Amino acid sequence: MLCKTAAFICLCFAWLFSSPCYSQGVTADNKTSLKIDSLIEVQKINKQCILIKFGADAVTAINTNKGIVVVDAGISTGLTARYRKIIENEFHKNNFAYVINSHGHHDHNGGNSIFPEAGIIGQVNCLQEISGERKNPEKVIKSLAKTVEEYQLKLQSSEPGAEEWKYNYTQKTRYLNAYYDAKSLIPVKKPGITFSDSINLDLGNFSAEILYFGKCHSSSDILIYLPGMKILFTGDLFTKYGRPNITYNPAPDKNRRRQAVQWIEKRMANIETIINGHGEMLSVDDLKYFNKNIVLN
Ligand SMILES: [Zn+2]
Repeated sequence: MLCKTAAFICLCFAWLFSSPCYSQGVTADNKTSLKIDSLIEVQKINKQCILIKFGADAVTAINTNKGIVVVDAGISTGLTARYRKIIENEFHKNNFAYVINSHGHHDHNGGNSIFPEAGIIGQVNCLQEISGERKNPEKVIKSLAKTVEEYQLKLQSSEPGAEEWKYNYTQKTRYLNAYYDAKSLIPVKKPGITFSDSINLDLGNFSAEILYFGKCHSSSDILIYLPGMKILFTGDLFTKYGRPNITYNPAPDKNRRRQAVQWIEKRMANIETIINGHGEMLSVDDLKYFNKNIVLN
């Protein structure tokens, strides 16, 4: 295992220094950093809301009178530190009130600790999910190293700049940053504000309604609705065409799922923007298809 890890680290360093654009006076680290920044996409949802994406990493920031609210925190501290700077520059302030984790998977809470002043909000099952995913650090490190290695190989065979290359590059970088966190034993900041069924937030100029969906993609999936912005966040519950991501099948608590669908239906007329946990913008039709699909399971 040591050999494999060492080989992987060598591979990464070899890759860093073999960049075709490497030139004197610009270090490989700088070059990598610039490349990462150039691949971070910032999408303005409205005046007070931005979506930051780096491949599958997606972090949304909402500027409220009570401070900035962040939905999901990305896979790592290294990348999320970059997103934080972008958010601060956008809103000209640096007080973060809350980070809401759409569910307990590591790629949504790895960057929680970048917002030490914020209250971290999550459904109570998040706590167990987070502990469970990290209970064997050696296994986590090994698995992350393997994933990085796989994306590095795919990267070598993809054409630089092409969509496939961008995907492999962002995936490799995301998992490499998560690997650094795991190697450095950086603890994940767990939600300190938890709830079983629902929670509402008064954010001054906005309010947020948060509902537990019931076990589905994870054991802690939630819906986050901002009526003032007509936005619904759906975590990893579904992708385009309403395709559900179901881990728990059949539903352990069918009634809760049905109630969650009714909760969405009630708000449907006031939902214009739907963002999933990986920054995919979904349509109201996607949401309707999902509602239809999910009650069948
Ligand atoms: Zn997930």
